[in-house]
Amino acid sequence: MADTSYASVLETRCLVAGAWEGAGETPVTDPARGEVIAHVPHLGAEAAGRAVDAASAALDGWGAEPVKARARVLRAWYDLVMANRDALAALLTAEQGKPLAEALGEIDYAASYIEFYAEEAKRILGEVIPAAAGNARAMVLRQPIGVVAVITPWNFPAAMITRKVAPALASGCTIVLKPAPETPLTALALARLAERAGVPAGVLNVITGDAPAIGDVFLSHPDVRLVGFTGSTAVGKHLMRGAADGMKRVALELGGNAPFIVFDDADLDAAVTGVIASKFRNMGQTCVCANRIYVQAGVHDAFVERLAAAVRALKVGDGRAPGVQQGPLINMAAVDKVEAHVADALEKGATLVTGGKRHALGGTFFEPTVVTGMRADMQAACSETFGPLAPVFAFESEAEVLAAANNSDAGLAAYFFTRDLSRTYRMLERLQFGMVGCNTGVLSSELAPFGGVKQSGNAREGSHHGIAEFTELKYAVLGGLEL
Ligand code: NAP
Repeated sequence: MADTSYASVLETRCLVAGAWEGAGETPVTDPARGEVIAHVPHLGAEAAGRAVDAASAALDGWGAEPVKARARVLRAWYDLVMANRDALAALLTAEQGKPLAEALGEIDYAASYIEFYAEEAKRILGEVIPAAAGNARAMVLRQPIGVVAVITPWNFPAAMITRKVAPALASGCTIVLKPAPETPLTALALARLAERAGVPAGVLNVITGDAPAIGDVFLSHPDVRLVGFTGSTAVGKHLMRGAADGMKRVALELGGNAPFIVFDDADLDAAVTGVIASKFRNMGQTCVCANRIYVQAGVHDAFVERLAAAVRALKVGDGRAPGVQQGPLINMAAVDKVEAHVADALEKGATLVTGGKRHALGGTFFEPTVVTGMRADMQAACSETFGPLAPVFAFESEAEVLAAANNSDAGLAAYFFTRDLSRTYRMLERLQFGMVGCNTGVLSSELAPFGGVKQSGNAREGSHHGIAEFTELKYAVLGGLEL
């Protein structure tokens, strides 16, 4: 039966220069039911060029709007997103698969960035600084960077967009957005609401289609001054290389490989709750997912027993069914990767505790899985599984686990559970990650700077730091004054 719960926000055309255009060519599939739910346009370099030109033409007007006017538009967008929360969440679940409760949480989370940056727009401050000459005065202006190109992934189809688009709009930038092909409908619905909120023609453009062709325009068009990207490290590196010629700023939010450390003195129930929240949210398809769970020898067996019980209790199914906590994975390639990581671990001597195979529901459903006896040479230790596999490593000492946790090219999120205050500080300061959670499995908030170090990226999203990415400093000196 067709799902009509999101009909009120469904938009299948692209937005270029204030006009909705393009015929539906590329199918969008509901991963829980395996059904095509819509088709979106397959645009390429020509449309990308027009979209950048439109954003460029709209730049002066949008940047010249009084800041309170920009803030009011953002606030109106926030209000519309919240007013359409149920339909947006239903759409998000339909195209992405996450349980409806999580989709509602993501809409709230996505909206929180719009609300925050509506307020923060009023606090983009310059400085008055000492002038070198007595008859001069000097200042630092903070100005919008210009046209921003945004490329987003499928795992958070709403939040990965608002985390960039809201601060860009707040600071006076204009935008061309290319969402992921798996989840374009949430992006187009958000753009519809932005238009209704009063975002002028050309200020926000959204195009779906040929990623390399569109990406090449973003990298080569001289008017694009920043490429904001959330996605895999491989594509992030490609964009960073390509941006060098035009000396464009790149703001990258890339993959993680988060350690989750449970010390002997931890509150074990809290740690299990933390792992479930971190590892199994969005079926393990988050960049801050616990990817390596290190448990100290003294509590290892007790922890594994409780974790396995909690994992076995997770309800798997269509995200729209009541009580479901685990939906399908995004596509078959994701299933293949989880399966390969499990097989590799078991071949190399790990022990399967629960799950481990494709789910009886078929399609892209996979059983929530726990494996113990993990070692550093196994695939799941070296790269993101991006699926519902909880791999447990045993360790003896703090020094040993710190070295193991830091032994990764990725540096996005890390977690540890302990009741020892001194250890807390040692770990907070020595973990080589952009974000560290102590005694919690949940990190993300619009109030905090989200981002990674090492190969996990170079940007921060959220908080006042998130708006700095979209602005540039200009030093201005006034000489020859009669003072
Ligand atoms: P992906 O394959 O890198 O794709 C991300 C986006 O980049 C998609 O829209 C994709 O479009 C586009 N893209 C691919 N090649 C491109 C090119 N040559 N030029 C321009 N655009 C291009 O990543 P994904 O598999 O969708 O997302 C999962 C990854 O994102 C994971 O590694 C995860 O950790 C990371 N992630 C990081 C964060 C963070 O904040 N650090 C948050 C969420 C996810 P096409 O699919 O059409 O190619």
